[in-house]
Amino acid sequence: MKYILTDVEGTTTSISFVHEVLFPFSKKHLVSFVKKHSSRTDVKNILEATKASALKENQKTINDQEACELLLHWIETDRKHPALKDLQGLIWEEGYASGEIKGHVYRDVLPALKAWKNAGLTLGVYSSGSVKAQHLIFEHSTEGNLRPFFSNHFDTAVGHKREVGSYKNIAGELKLSPSDILFLSDIKEELDAAFEAGMKTIQLVRQDDVIVGDHLVARDFSEIKF
Ligand SMILES: [Mg+2]
Repeated sequence: MKYILTDVEGTTTSISFVHEVLFPFSKKHLVSFVKKHSSRTDVKNILEATKASALKENQKTINDQEACELLLHWIETDRKHPALKDLQGLIWEEGYASGEIKGHVYRDVLPALKAWKNAGLTLGVYSSGSVKAQHLIFEHSTEGNLRPFFSNHFDTAVGHKREVGSYKNIAGELKLSPSDILFLSDIKEELDAAFEAGMKTIQLVRQDDVIVGDHLVARDFSEIKF
């Protein structure tokens, strides 16, 4: 084994951090952020992409304010639209930079990352959160700046987390055999896909409500043995 690939939500980080801190933060600051930065090209592009979706899906031409309302609706319905993801990344960046948000990382994670690095392993992240969101969580985390520990970040640009092909793509990009990679996640279906691609798997079961599959199980990172 040469490489450890970890999921974020439910694995390094509590699920409630995403749903009770990050999403509400982006919702609360969305309108004011767009107003404050409306002349920025990235913000303009996000609004244009949102308007284009409204036109295509609802045959409706909408203005900036309505685009904001639609983006807020997408947060509520957990729609993973690229424009929303981009905008949330920008809003969170401001929150992390000001210290208003700190990325939650469980206490048992840092000692394990250190031990794995010392053992000569390479570490990476695969999350449905964007690469930018991953950078932010780990750079401004409750355990300090953990970003230097990770050599690679993957998001759904390589494919969805429950698809076998995504894990093959990751192994391909890393130029490693899948059997050299250990994948850590809380979600059975993701581990099933990684296993089918040839990776080793361990399921993190941090909470009682996790649906346990046929993989090795660890309650936290201190229990991960290989
Ligand atoms: Mg997860």
